[in-house]
Amino acid sequence: MARTVKCPSCGAELMVKDGNRDFMFCEYCGTKVRLDDYQETRRFVDEARIKESENQKELELKRMEFEERARKDKDKGFWIVLVGLVVFMIVCYITCQ
Ligand SMILES: [Zn+2]
Repeated sequence: MARTVKCPSCGAELMVKDGNRDFMFCEYCGTKVRLDDYQETRRFVDEARIKESENQKELELKRMEFEERARKDKDKGFWIVLVGLVVFMIVCYITCQ
């Protein structure tokens, strides 16, 4: 993955080229950006990782929601069958008299 640094002056994302070792100049505002501390780069990577784990959490939540709905549908089916049976018995009882 390409390394990027954030310009401390204007906040622009700057692509670090192999030729730039110790510092580079912001292509937007011309500020000299030091490259010897990797703080900004590390933050960038961490944010990507956090986003990834959030996506996984969201996926897990969706899966649980889906299973919950499937379970409720099954319960509903049970009740429909039960009510149908009771109605059938009542109709039988009435017609048999
Ligand atoms: Zn800048």
